[in-house]
Amino acid sequence: MKVYFVGAGPGDPDLITVKGQKLLAAADLIIYTGSLVNPALLAYTRPQARILNSAGMTLEEILELMVAAAGRGELVVRLHTGDPSLYGAIQEQMDGLARRGVPFEIVPGVSSFAAAAAAVRREFTLPGVSQTLILTRRGGRTPVPPGENLVELARHRASLCLFLSAQSLGQAVAELALGYGPATPAALVYKASWPEEKVIRGTLADITEQTAAAGIERTALLLVGDFLVAPYRRSCLYDPSFDHGFREKRDGSGDCSPD
Ligand code: SAH
Repeated sequence: MKVYFVGAGPGDPDLITVKGQKLLAAADLIIYTGSLVNPALLAYTRPQARILNSAGMTLEEILELMVAAAGRGELVVRLHTGDPSLYGAIQEQMDGLARRGVPFEIVPGVSSFAAAAAAVRREFTLPGVSQTLILTRRGGRTPVPPGENLVELARHRASLCLFLSAQSLGQAVAELALGYGPATPAALVYKASWPEEKVIRGTLADITEQTAAAGIERTALLLVGDFLVAPYRRSCLYDPSFDHGFREKRDGSGDCSPD
């Protein structure tokens, strides 16, 4: 049978997709990313299912397990946190399966960046503030290409969400402050959508200190940009002076009127 790469969502077990939950309920073998996936999701599995934590395994071991199970006709779920397309290390798993002729499919998930926006109750793309969201990380043992260093990215002043960088937050924030300026709003979201979720709000000048004082060292995202506080122009989409394929304009005088 097939191998399904399933996005587990950011933590809250209700935030897996319906498709992902159905696959978990039918799976014979589940290999989950133990360091981040909420184990409460495993309650959706069958009692007879084999459940393995990939935290202590190598790529070769994971592939061997998936290939053998699929070969026996078993349904395999490889459960990754958030959405598997972001920092999931799934490309090498997919390519390994393809080389061995094992069919696979990807089931997207709710990424933690979306859960973090929900936690701070802000929209990343505010008209007149930013229409771009940069998802990135600081280089560590996994290097980041030179054109993507944080100082360069910060110069755009777009909305930004920093993954995998809680442990080197001080350096990341110092680099971001060079491009954004230290007064730029920042928020640190710890364990978005989990019961222990925490939000720390500040600016690039004080967010590192506040995070250290709260004792947060992992499973956190740093959000940066004026979208966190700035006044904005209301969207043209629902403006009475704007018409589009689904609605005619009702008032020709607003900001969104072409004339
Ligand atoms: N594929 C995942 C990201 C995996 S990388 C996704 O789409 O969310 C792991 C990093 O994601 C962590 O170091 C942390 O920066 C972030 N992360 C994952 N879950 C999180 C959560 N619930 N709250 C805050 N950050 C989270």
